[in-house]
Amino acid sequence: MGKIVDLYKNNKTVFSCEIYPPKKEEEFNNIHEKLTRLAEIGPDFVSVTYGAGGSNAGKAIDIADFAKNKAKLEVLSHITSVGFNKEKLLEGLKKFNEIGIENVLVLRGDRPKTMTDEEYNSRDFQHANEMAEFIRNNGLDFSIAGACYPHKHPEAVSEDDDIRNTKKKVTSGCEFLISQLFFDNDYFLRLQENLRKLDVNVPISAGIMPITSAKQLGTTVTLSGTTVPEKLSDLISKHGDNPEEMRKYGIEYAIRQSEDLIKRGVDGIHLYIMNKPELAREIFQALGH
Ligand code: FAD
Repeated sequence: MGKIVDLYKNNKTVFSCEIYPPKKEEEFNNIHEKLTRLAEIGPDFVSVTYGAGGSNAGKAIDIADFAKNKAKLEVLSHITSVGFNKEKLLEGLKKFNEIGIENVLVLRGDRPKTMTDEEYNSRDFQHANEMAEFIRNNGLDFSIAGACYPHKHPEAVSEDDDIRNTKKKVTSGCEFLISQLFFDNDYFLRLQENLRKLDVNVPISAGIMPITSAKQLGTTVTLSGTTVPEKLSDLISKHGDNPEEMRKYGIEYAIRQSEDLIKRGVDGIHLYIMNKPELAREIFQALGH
């Protein structure tokens, strides 16, 4: 265990999932138990999100610490340029170092509603790649990941421009990429192909989110800018009113999507499990992990 990038060198699909620090205190109290359950399932690594703006910095570090040192999971800690200036980034990385975290996902982050123009525009790093460059230029020994977008980033002027910007993340020091969630594999495969054409040959994990309720889909689409293929919208119209059926078919959809990607040689499957270890258990088991 150590550098996540090495996991991709074993010629096997890398299975990972995302955990976020819960907003509600009562949910936060059982996150350690969830991480312990997740460790039994045995993902290759977990990524721990960070609220841009720094609202949950302490919680994100606590979760990463528990995951790494108590649950013995490999950890990828997210860091955002919104909320981290150079000084804070160095401090944060020092803290990660102290607790044994060797992997970071650099992100610009989204602007919190409460942040003023001045605060947002005066950040030290405009884009994620600048954080990667800073970490490399300071000789800090982290394996660095970046994000990529099968439907292009919502602010990108064009798909080509977004792909060129994704390449910048890699030339700046990102050693692997994790994609935004998507429901139609063609978009991910096209992004992957376009990146390979630009000689971006780092591993790319595909972001898969099991949709287990009709309400969840609405929020997800709004936040991620992804599109919903007919197969999935049919499934929601048919089973959306029945929570048990919806859960069952939503998980099955995520399994089929992952199976297809694995058949096509995807480097990794990164599950957005909304802090529900049982989703990871069902999906990873079905995929033979
Ligand atoms: P950037 O790489 O900076 O890209 C943002 C826009 O700028 C894009 O349109 C891109 O094309 C363009 N761009 C990029 N680089 C350059 C450049 N050098 N010059 C000019 N234009 C450029 N948010 C959180 O707050 N916390 C999290 O923990 C978190 N985790 C995430 C995990 C994953 C896997 C993903 C996919 C997203 C996550 N997000 C998270 C959301 C993310 O912060 C937003 O999508 C944000 O809007 C963009 O982040 P980025 O790092 O991709 O930004």
